[in-house]
Amino acid sequence: MAVSFDETFDVVVVGAGFGGPVAARRCAEAGLKTLMLERARVPGEKVVSGLVIPIYGFLYGPEFIRKGNPPIERPICGVVNRLVKDGEILFTDRSLRVPKPLALGYAAYCKPFCTWLADRAVEVGPS
Ligand SMILES: Cc1cc2nc3c(=O)[nH]c(=O)nc-3n(C[C@H](O)[C@H](O)[C@H](O)COP(=O)(O)OP(=O)(O)OC[C@H]3O[C@@H](n4cnc5c(N)ncnc54)[C@H](O)[C@@H]3O)c2cc1C
Repeated sequence: MAVSFDETFDVVVVGAGFGGPVAARRCAEAGLKTLMLERARVPGEKVVSGLVIPIYGFLYGPEFIRKGNPPIERPICGVVNRLVKDGEILFTDRSLRVPKPLALGYAAYCKPFCTWLADRAVEVGPS
């Protein structure tokens, strides 16, 4: 989006990674004239490939994420913990599991997830 340099803003959010779009949306919803800047071509390009979003990110995160159907790949129903010393696996614990449809978190790709977040900030529109 073209922005003229003599325009003034209440808030400038630098970066459209995981945190920036949430901050920008919150500010825009509060009626603040908000500018979000991202140096990469695509939001989420800086962070590498995919990530795990812990379940509390959804349970206690912003309503627009919980109810907004963000682009996730799959639920994560189990975690394997390993104690490794000098390259040797000393101990493996697979007890942390929950039955479907419960989930411990969700796997997502960073670019589509952050682009979706940035779109949610932009959709609030100008103040
Ligand atoms: C390899 C790896 C794996 C990870 N795995 C997980 C995981 O599985 N689960 C999890 O919860 N977390 C994970 N993390 C951590 C998670 O990625 C970070 O906690 C999260 O990205 C931090 O969000 P942020 O908004 O603070 O910063 P970032 O997501 O890094 O966003 C910062 C943004 O600012 C932009 N920017 C920087 N400088 C400028 C500038 N001057 N002008 C304009 N734009 C700028 C960058 O391009 C970037 O888009 C992982 C991190 C890494 C590196």
